[in-house]
Amino acid sequence: MKKHCYFEGEAGVSAFSTLVGFNVCDYAGADPKQVAADRQKLAEITGAREIFIPRQTHSVRVGRPDDDLHGVDALVTDIPGQLLCINTADCLPLLLYDPKARVIGAAHCGWRGTVGRIVEATMLKMQELGAKPERTLAAVGPHICPECFEVGDEVAQQFPPTSVIRRLGFKPHVSLFEAVKIQLPGVTFVNSPLCSMHDSRFYSVRRQGRELSQRTLSAIIIPS
Ligand SMILES: [Zn+2]
Repeated sequence: MKKHCYFEGEAGVSAFSTLVGFNVCDYAGADPKQVAADRQKLAEITGAREIFIPRQTHSVRVGRPDDDLHGVDALVTDIPGQLLCINTADCLPLLLYDPKARVIGAAHCGWRGTVGRIVEATMLKMQELGAKPERTLAAVGPHICPECFEVGDEVAQQFPPTSVIRRLGFKPHVSLFEAVKIQLPGVTFVNSPLCSMHDSRFYSVRRQGRELSQRTLSAIIIPS
């Protein structure tokens, strides 16, 4: 399992995104045997006691690991050993960590979830567990960059104007990263985004096609 790391265990947390060739998403049409084998590998490599993979539906629902995870697009926990997983292929995976409260969060931020303010909802759910935005660190996983993310006007209109790029004679482009940052005042981002379309180490539906059955995993865990 090759991975791109944001936090290593010594920071009190581990967070990473996986590279092409590894997939634990079972609802995009992947071979169930491959998914089972990769989930086994994930457990071994992370040392997770439990792995939580929500059935994402572009909702704005934030859950706890023990909830029914169907239709959940973000998770928060303060329990060590629980690996929170988000699967994407151009959408923005967001991983959050408050080192003092020892609370983590993971959110799937596509355009619908982002305009529905799933990012803000995730931070609020972490605050219920004692997290504070001004202490929280954020890692942003690979997602479609503003240069690549052309959208229709009906989509662009739903975004804050500072996250929309308009050029005369061209369709609007959107920065998911800007739109996410706006919802996290006080939070410190630890890395610069990589583009899933430009960078072939990651899965991209826009580059590889709608029938793409695999997804990039972004995950975070407080080691137990
Ligand atoms: Zn790009």
